[in-house]
Amino acid sequence: ATASEPYEVIVIGGGPGGYVAAIKAAQLGLKTACIEKRGALGGTCLNVGCIPSKAMLNNSHMYHQAQHDMQRRGIDVSGVSLNLSTMLKAKDDAVTGLTKGVEFLFKQNKVDYIKGSASFVSPTTISVALNDGGETQVETKNVIIATGSEVAPFPGGGIVIDEEQIVSSTGALSLQKVPEKMVVIGGGVIGLELGSVWSRLGADVTVVEFLGGIGGVGIDEEIAKQFQRNLTKQGLKFKLNTKVLSAEKENGKVVLKTEAAKGGKEETLDADVVLVSVGRRPYVTGLNIEAVGLEMDNKGRIVIDDQFNTSVKNVKCIGDVTFGPMLAHKAEEEGIAAAEYIKSGHGHVNYNAIPAVVYTHPEVAWVGKNEQELKAAGVQYSIGKFNFTANSRAKTNLDTDGFVKIITEKETDRIIGVHIMGPNAGEMISEGVLAMEYGASAEDVARTSHAHVSVSVSILPSVLGSTMLLIYSR
Ligand code: FAD
Ligand code: NAD
Repeated sequence: ATASEPYEVIVIGGGPGGYVAAIKAAQLGLKTACIEKRGALGGTCLNVGCIPSKAMLNNSHMYHQAQHDMQRRGIDVSGVSLNLSTMLKAKDDAVTGLTKGVEFLFKQNKVDYIKGSASFVSPTTISVALNDGGETQVETKNVIIATGSEVAPFPGGGIVIDEEQIVSSTGALSLQKVPEKMVVIGGGVIGLELGSVWSRLGADVTVVEFLGGIGGVGIDEEIAKQFQRNLTKQGLKFKLNTKVLSAEKENGKVVLKTEAAKGGKEETLDADVVLVSVGRRPYVTGLNIEAVGLEMDNKGRIVIDDQFNTSVKNVKCIGDVTFGPMLAHKAEEEGIAAAEYIKSGHGHVNYNAIPAVVYTHPEVAWVGKNEQELKAAGVQYSIGKFNFTANSRAKTNLDTDGFVKIITEKETDRIIGVHIMGPNAGEMISEGVLAMEYGASAEDVARTSHAHVSVSVSILPSVLGSTMLLIYSR
């Protein structure tokens, strides 16, 4: 763009929020650029998050199965061994393929990709320190901030991440050797997914969690308990209600001091590698938000209204850097809606129907309210539950850990929560999301034909549990 011809939309950040917003804006006919400083598109998710972690989860699961699960299926395998560098390369190849794919989509949709670090000069002028050197300024009518999040440091600053021995998720995705002993600080999504990866590859993994349960925010407590039992069966160890005080490098090891969360006796743990996974925080470094006076809350999130407007006219904000769950698909939904608001003044994200998935084995997935939230809110509800041990496909697949739990509003039969732990829970949850998006009752779902012999047919007896038992037993 020249000075006389400003962009209609500039998106800062090329992650799932930003790249989707940019492509959507361009598709709506708006002249659009996306500024990204990482040197690759796709943000945290494609480069050091969702994608590389899923590559490692999938392949470590196969390795684990080859070692521990084949014989009982009548498949004799011998000489199974790990080639970690090939496994890491497969992960890197998946990342490169997908980030290049986004770059191709930018070209196809005529989004200008500006490689550099953006900072505000004014709400309509953005200065970019180019990755190749030098600086440029771009003018725009609208800005969408999508700068994402970064690893939250250990509170108090006592633990220093070196990404080799004391790692964040980023280092844990590239360990060059399987650690003998690994301690994971924080039993949320990252801790459980990456703890599972290294446990399957042979590490002795202990997860230290401050709270009394695992799985992070939003997980149903009943699911969390059985989830913990399943992971324990696989070899992960858990220390709940436990606070880490410090972690220091000593003679090639890391020595951790812990104490009971409510105070009490100190304990010492040692590890070859420590993963710090105690959450992520919004990222605005270098953006120079002071120049435009954007309002932030006490958690460092950029404050927005229900149409993604910040406190500054013409500047919108989406994704991890603002409110809501830090999930790629949430950022993407917001990206589309924000672009639509700019074009037409209308857009929509249904925050009641955003699924969450933990990609362990079994997977855990949910959408809507959990039981403890409903109890706290005094909502009258019914529960339908079905164990995969009674599902014919799960049984024939020798993969029966877990259950489906569907929560309906007692008075209306409307589905208000779906919680699944089991094989492919992350795929099955989409049905729950769709049901909630359409405001379905349990009866609506119960009257929907589900293929025999699928695992997802387990949804049926779960909804029947509430009001429709008659149909299923016809
Ligand atoms: P980001 O993806 O963080 O992208 C922001 C981009 O902005 C970055 O690339 C950054 O370089 C760029 N940027 C920042 N400031 C500037 C600037 N001033 N100038 C130019 N560029 C800038 N979510 C899921 O839904 N499913 C998963 O399975 C999943 N797995 C995950 C696994 C791990 C290990 C991690 C860490 C996260 C995972 N997430 C997952 C979360 C997901 O990655 C985030 O929710 C998502 O990436 C948020 O998207 P975003 O666009 O808001 O921000
Ligand atoms: P998280 O919030 O899921 O879990 C952090 C855990 O650490 C919590 O259980 C918390 O109680 C615990 N904790 C906090 N401080 C502690 C301390 N001092 N000692 C011990 N435990 C402590 O955060 P995360 O696992 O770091 O993940 C960050 C974000 O990335 C999440 O918001 C998640 O949405 C996203 N993510 C999503 C996926 C997915 O969708 N599959 C995968 C990975 C990450």
